[in-house]
Amino acid sequence: MVNNRLICPACKNVFDTAVMPPNQIQCPKCRATFPIPSQGLLKLYRMGNFMGSAAPASIYINEQPCGFLANQGSINIPLNYGTYKIHMAMGMNRRCNDPVIQVTPDKPLHCYKMHIKMGAFSNTQVLEEALPKDMPM
Ligand SMILES: [Zn+2]
Repeated sequence: MVNNRLICPACKNVFDTAVMPPNQIQCPKCRATFPIPSQGLLKLYRMGNFMGSAAPASIYINEQPCGFLANQGSINIPLNYGTYKIHMAMGMNRRCNDPVIQVTPDKPLHCYKMHIKMGAFSNTQVLEEALPKDMPM
């Protein structure tokens, strides 16, 4: 089962949990309690890549660090309604197509597959919209 990735609104600590929205959760770092966002969900899957090493990819949502994604890893990021820019970086390589999603009542669920496009001078993290059925459960 894919975990939910949360950012503590009090201390910005990033952690994973199997607790589902809209339950309350306690930040393991600062002990603040907050409700898990329940209006929408971003599902991220990193496709297998044997060339680009197994180094973890960093996730950023609206420039906010949101933890890592392992090779062939997947994560669910619960979000409330709003506009979010998704960015992924691999070490020093920050080239990414930075898709912007709108989480709305009409489209609460957004699914993206990430793969690495090899370039002559630097690689690019490409986030490609996917169908829910193509995502790991
Ligand atoms: Zn906290």
